[in-house]
This record gives sequence, C-alpha cells and structure tokens, in this order.
Amino acid sequence: MDKKAKVNLLSRGILIGILITLVLNLIKDSVVEVYPVLSENQKICVPIIMYHQVKNYGYGKDVISPYEFESDLVYLKENNYTTITMNDLIDYVYNDKQLPKNPIVLSFDDGHLSIYKYVYPLLKEYDMKIVLSVIGKGIDDFTKVHDENMAYSHVTWDQIKEMKESGHIEVQNHSYNLHTCNNGRIGCLQKRNESLEDYQLLLSDDLEKCQNQIVINTGSVPNTFAYPYGETSENCDSVVRQLGFKATLSCRYGVNIIEKNPEKLYGLKRICRAHNEYVGKLIKEGMETLKYSSE
Ligand SMILES: [Zn+2]
Repeated sequence: MDKKAKVNLLSRGILIGILITLVLNLIKDSVVEVYPVLSENQKICVPIIMYHQVKNYGYGKDVISPYEFESDLVYLKENNYTTITMNDLIDYVYNDKQLPKNPIVLSFDDGHLSIYKYVYPLLKEYDMKIVLSVIGKGIDDFTKVHDENMAYSHVTWDQIKEMKESGHIEVQNHSYNLHTCNNGRIGCLQKRNESLEDYQLLLSDDLEKCQNQIVINTGSVPNTFAYPYGETSENCDSVVRQLGFKATLSCRYGVNIIEKNPEKLYGLKRICRAHNEYVGKLIKEGMETLKYSSE
C-alpha cells in the first residue's frame, strides 16, 4: 500500500469513528435515562403513584377502571418493579434496610369501598402492595351504617383489618375529619384568625384520633401522613413532625430521590394516575424531571 492510500484509509477510519460517536450520542440523548438505584451514593429513585378510586364508572383524575389498574400491575411486573411500603422506605433511611431493585410505591388516598372490591383482589393476584391513607371518620361512619354503595361508601374497619393482615395493604393516616373544605378551613390548613395554639391543638387532636383508631383496629402505628388535598404549611408540618410522623405525602408532581437523610422523607412527590393515562409513560415522564432537579 502506498503512502497516499494509507493516509486515505486512516482519514476514512477517523471519519467513521467520528460518525459512530455522533450517532451514539444522538441515541443516548433521545433515550430517557432511568436510574432506579444510584448505588454509588446510596441515593434511590422512588416514584410514588397516586390513586384514589378504582371502579367501573365516573372515570377521571381520581377514578380509573379495574382493567386500567390491572394493566398498571402488569406493566410493573413486566418491567421488574417491586412495590414497596412506606415502612420499607423509612427503614431504608433509618435502619439501613435494603430495598429491592426498581422500587415503587402505589399510594391510595381516602379509603373508598372500591379499594376492597377491586384493588385488593388484584393485589393478591399479582402479589403487590399498596399504601392506603385513610380518612378515619369515613371508616368509622361506614362501619356503623353497613351501606355498601360504590358511589360514596368507605371501607369498614373489618375490611381494613383483613386487607392489612393479608400483607398487601399498609394503612397510613389521612386525617380523622379534616378531609373537608368547611367553615373557612381547607384540609389541614390553619384558618384565618385562628390562634396558633387553637390550631395546633385541633390538628394534633384530629391526627391522633385517626392514629388511635388505626392502632386499635390494625395493631400498627402509622408513620406517614398524607395531606388532605396536598395542602400544608409550616405550622401544619411542625405539628405532623411533633406527632412522630416520619414521612409525609404531598400532591406535588415528580419522582423522589431518597437518600439516608430523614428530611428527604417529608413532602414526598407523587405522580397522579388519572383515567386514560399509561403508567409506563407517567413513570418515564416523572423520571425525566430528575434531569432538571437540583436534588
Ligand atoms: Zn384525599
């Protein structure tokens, strides 16, 4: 081979090398990068999906069909996600408990009857877990009246007990009777003109009442508080912490980076799973927000 041919071959090689690098970079940029476990610094990426009801009508932001929920579970199974509880997450932060690869939390708020009728059987079938944050008064009321109407009924304490004992449902606190927008108060927020002392007393009484009912009926002490409507404030948060809650669930959008820092367990973000959404797409979009996160 003469010198000119050698130079031609070399420059062709360099050109091909540059082209391959360019194509690889393009592919890399177009793929959503997912980091389920950032093991080098013990940071873990945990999506929390927010659900409310699963039933056969009234679909919308808070209501999806049993078929849709089942399709979520199938997606999670096929993509090697493992559903974890808030206890698992808290134990990871406080007690060095190992978490599975691709951990995810399925959180349900309120405690409607549809959870017992449609969600619970699917959890047993697919061997998955949810975190159910209940409104204490809703369960007390429907335990008394025995009114099983899918439109408005909540689960009873017997149903809660059965679901909790199955190991598929973790019960957490969503207030006793503050899931309302009555008399100038939205959820757990302090009313205008309400003294801090009155507010703190009212909030701690309410949350403790829910705690007591859950302890009496399930034998477990909730360690997580889900803010009604996601509404909170500094004063509210300080009461929640004083009562011993180790984590709080907000309605802020996003995916959480959890590290061995208890602070990271407060105000956890969630992804709302509304009707006609695809859980795989929601998780990927949520993961994408981490690219722009300063955490
Ligand atoms: Zn709620």
